[in-house]
Amino acid sequence: MRHFTCACCALILVFFATTPAQAADSITLQVDLRDAPRHLFHVHETLPVKPGPLTLYYPKWIPGEHSPSGPLENLAGIQFTAGGRSVTWRRDPTDMYALHLDIPKGVTSMDAAFDFLSPAMGGEFGQSVSATPDIVDLEWNQVLLYPAGKPSREISFEPGVKLLAGWKFATALETASGGADEPRFKPVMLNTLVDSPLIAGRYFNRLDLAPNDKVPVHLDVVADTAEDLAVTPDELTGLRNLVQQAYVLFGAHHYDHYDFLFTLSANTGHFGLEHHQSSDDRIFPDYFIEPATQLVGAHLLPHEYVHSWNGKFRRPAGLWAADFNTTPMKGELLWVYEGLTEYFGDVLTARSGMLTAQQYRDTLAASAAVMDHRPGRSWRPLQDTADEAQILYYAPRAWQNWRRVQDFYSEGELIWLDVDTKLRELSSGKRSMDDFAHVFYGMDDGSYVTKTFTFDDVVAALKQVQDYDWAGFLRARLDSTQYHAPLDGITRGGYELAYTDTPTEYFKDMEKLRKSVNLLYSIGLMLSSEEGKRGLIEDVLWDGPAYKAGLGAGMKLVAVNGRALDADPKVLQDAIQAARTTSTPIRLLVRQQDQYLSYDVDYHGGLKYPVLKPLPGVAPVLDAIIAPHK
Ligand SMILES: [Zn+2]
Repeated sequence: MRHFTCACCALILVFFATTPAQAADSITLQVDLRDAPRHLFHVHETLPVKPGPLTLYYPKWIPGEHSPSGPLENLAGIQFTAGGRSVTWRRDPTDMYALHLDIPKGVTSMDAAFDFLSPAMGGEFGQSVSATPDIVDLEWNQVLLYPAGKPSREISFEPGVKLLAGWKFATALETASGGADEPRFKPVMLNTLVDSPLIAGRYFNRLDLAPNDKVPVHLDVVADTAEDLAVTPDELTGLRNLVQQAYVLFGAHHYDHYDFLFTLSANTGHFGLEHHQSSDDRIFPDYFIEPATQLVGAHLLPHEYVHSWNGKFRRPAGLWAADFNTTPMKGELLWVYEGLTEYFGDVLTARSGMLTAQQYRDTLAASAAVMDHRPGRSWRPLQDTADEAQILYYAPRAWQNWRRVQDFYSEGELIWLDVDTKLRELSSGKRSMDDFAHVFYGMDDGSYVTKTFTFDDVVAALKQVQDYDWAGFLRARLDSTQYHAPLDGITRGGYELAYTDTPTEYFKDMEKLRKSVNLLYSIGLMLSSEEGKRGLIEDVLWDGPAYKAGLGAGMKLVAVNGRALDADPKVLQDAIQAARTTSTPIRLLVRQQDQYLSYDVDYHGGLKYPVLKPLPGVAPVLDAIIAPHK
């Protein structure tokens, strides 16, 4: 289930699954967001307490972030008072997310006040910028303390916010009272509260994505300007198709209602965070205006939506915990949680028409090329990227191809395409991952009580669809240290990963949005094209031509064959093409700290950009996979 509320329609909303029986036992939580333009959230909590020792936790392990990423460093001004007197506290010396207090005799209620210093710059995911003069995105786990000793599903909260006058909001929470500027929400359990973020802003729009269904699905948008809110008819049609295509794929849904909480801003962080009944989706401000942004960002909403089924309703056992502090998350099955979400999300993006078939193939070619240029595969199997995910999410961009990072997304997608095409091959086209989706997610329609799973459960569900040694099939791919990516799904799909000297539209748009020049597949370099950083080498392909010449990440390219990069941003691409017909190395002048250094790169293969090329004589199974389903 989910709830959307805005000031104008709070009364029509649906209900929570787990409404606490006794609101009197609830912790009252009031978050004053009126200081959001300067990134300050002021928090006041009233907790029912008993005399004696009390431990309060600040949430540490954040669902969806798969990491101990609760931004504890941003908590300040902590004060506890009871009966008009201050209550002293001491942080646990080994678990810094725990505060110890001793509640005085006779005290049954305690007030807690603190400020959340919401980031003003930088950061990843929930630790990135969440407030601007016109927008605030609130993740409740960042603005609460909760008592130790009970599972989060047994701790009741009565949350509320204070907003700047005239702002509107959306959340899965159900409004109980208060006006538009100071809504209070019905009591919910802590796990549901953390699962129900809120967005608010001066510029707000809400669109119905399931106008003919009993189960509401909405797109709620906040943006930097009123102009950025305008959803194009094509985008609206695509998102409506997405909802219906997801229902066809999974055969059930796991919410009472669903809200895409969509933030379009140049100033906030850009990411998506999944929840059962909503998703916190943040992207560039011109998403509805600029085709390049829409093409590159098209998969965001489908990915987070698929998570309602895969990740929230069905969750790897190691990523489920009774609270947010006492059990570390284990990422070993993230190649299912994220990899299969990536696969289904991208397939649904195409099935819904949000990408054309050609655009889908271009995105697949781009991510397959990244995985097929990962020399780090020789020492680190994919399984290890999932096992170390909580660290790798925050790894630097440099040497990604040798380090490997969150490869369980893109390589997970390749493995699931491999599985899908294998299922189709083994069953002569009768069965596919669509059948797996029904088996694995198509139960308990409407329920969003999480069902955990193990590796063996995944294998058993695949066997139910088609008997085969799926454990062996998957382990061979997960534990492999071979150089090349698992591309059999692409070839069984009727295509091959190939390279041409002309980038696809998608590739060009990716470079534009990432402000980078990606020459990893030719000379083996990734450069920044950002103003002020132009020429900065962000990554070098391990053992590639530039690597062999001695270049490394962090150097700054200044000139190519004696011609300044400043004078002609295309000078390197032109030199790479010109070198095809000579044996003369390409001479690169770089600045490394306070020195200028010259390197000769002996590369003559020309520019190379990934594409999928049809394989003659092989049925285009991939085209059938991404065609709209009924
Ligand atoms: Zn995801």
